Amino acid sequence: MATTFVEPFVLPEKMRPKSSGRKDKPKKAPKEIAVITDGCTGCAGSPACVEYCPMEDCMFWVPDADFPPFGRILVDPWLCIGCKKCTSKGPDGAFLDGCPWDAIVMETTVDFEARVGVKL
Ligand code: SF4
Ligand code: SF4
Repeated sequence: MATTFVEPFVLPEKMRPKSSGRKDKPKKAPKEIAVITDGCTGCAGSPACVEYCPMEDCMFWVPDADFPPFGRILVDPWLCIGCKKCTSKGPDGAFLDGCPWDAIVMETTVDFEARVGVKL
């Protein structure tokens, strides 16, 4: 895979903005999950993706300690239900093909588990 992914198996502290909504953890891992790539710019602190995620605390802000107030978004792979809502829409009214920076990709759970070394 050409893109270098941030490995989310050691999740940093979840800061705001965070997704909100369903608090039920998936009983069974979905076939694929969303992964944020290094292309994430953090949308200058106003992530366009987070509001579309229906799962509580699934998408969250991680500040860049070296370059405040910049940061980025990560996905909690244990909470992602693979709905793709974060990748199929842009800001309200604008239908974009993925996040504005193409920074969110879907990866099969099998591939993710093998790559990262965790069981979802
Ligand atoms: S994943 Fe895309 S939409 Fe979300 S903060 Fe990063 S660049 Fe912005
Ligand atoms: S695929 Fe769905 S559940 Fe997963 S991060 Fe995107 S919006 Fe949230």
